[in-house]
Amino acid sequence: MLRIGSHLSSSKGYEAMGRQALKLGADTFAFFTRNPRGGSAKAIDLKDVERFQLIWKAQGYGKITAHAPYTLNACSDKEEVRRFAWEAFADDLARMEYTPGNYYNFHPGSHVGQGVETGIQWIVKMLNACLKPEQTTIVLLETMAGKGSEIGRTFEELKRILDETALSDKMGICLDTCHVWDAGYDIVEDLDGVVAEFDRVIGLQHLKAVHINDSMNPKGSHKDRHARIGEGFIGLPAFERIIRHPAFRDLPFILETPNDDAGWTAEISMLRALEKPL
Ligand code: FE
Ligand code: FE
Ligand code: ZN
Repeated sequence: MLRIGSHLSSSKGYEAMGRQALKLGADTFAFFTRNPRGGSAKAIDLKDVERFQLIWKAQGYGKITAHAPYTLNACSDKEEVRRFAWEAFADDLARMEYTPGNYYNFHPGSHVGQGVETGIQWIVKMLNACLKPEQTTIVLLETMAGKGSEIGRTFEELKRILDETALSDKMGICLDTCHVWDAGYDIVEDLDGVVAEFDRVIGLQHLKAVHINDSMNPKGSHKDRHARIGEGFIGLPAFERIIRHPAFRDLPFILETPNDDAGWTAEISMLRALEKPL
C-alpha cells in the first residue's frame, strides 16, 4: 500500500505532528528540524517524543523524514555559512537519534560560482566529518532542480557525493518529482527511462524516499516551484504511473505541495485511490 504524507510544521512538537498526520490520512510525514530559514533548534522534549512513538507504533507506521533548513549550505564560498552548515548538520543528527532509525534529508547545496567540483568536495568534507558509524539515521541527498548553482541537478553529481563519502551505508537519495522534472528528466513521457538511468548511474537500492510535487514550470526550467498534484506541468496521469511504479513501491512519498490540511487530506486520498489496481 502507498505510504504517503505531507510536510508538517514542527513548531508544536512530535506528538502534534503524529496526530496531525493521522487526521490527514497519512502514514508518514516530513518536518523541518529547525526554522527552515534561520538556525535555532528547540530542545528535544523527551516526553513529547515518547508520546509520539506510542501513537506511531500503535498504528504500525514506519519511517518519518526530517528536512534540514534551506539555509544549510555546506559548499558556500563563505566560511561562516559552511560553519553553520556543519554545526546544524551535526546537531540535527544528534537530535535525530531521539527518534532512531529515520531519515534526514538535505539539499546538497549551491557552489555559488566555485564550480561543481569544489562544491562536491565541500559537501563530502562535511559528511565525512559529521557522519558517525553508530548513528541509526540515514541521511538523504535530495535531487535538485538546478536553480542557480545548485549541486545535485544530475544523478551523476549525487553519485559522486555518495562515492566519496566514507560511511556511504549511512546515505541514500530522496527523489523530488518537481526537482528532477525541472532539472530536465522526462518523468512524464519516459518514466521508465528515467528510472533506468537512476539505476544505471546511482543504483535503485540507494533510493529511499520520494518528494511528490507537481511543477509550475516546464521540463528543464531549473526553477523549483511546486504545484499541487495534477495542477502543474507533470500532471495526474504521470503521478499515477509514478506511485504505481515498481521502483517506488515501498518508499515513503512526501507531499511538499502548496496546501492547507484540507488540501493535503484530499491529495492523500486521491493518490491512495489512484494507486489501487483498476
Ligand atoms: Fe527539499
Ligand atoms: Fe523536496
Ligand atoms: Zn523544491
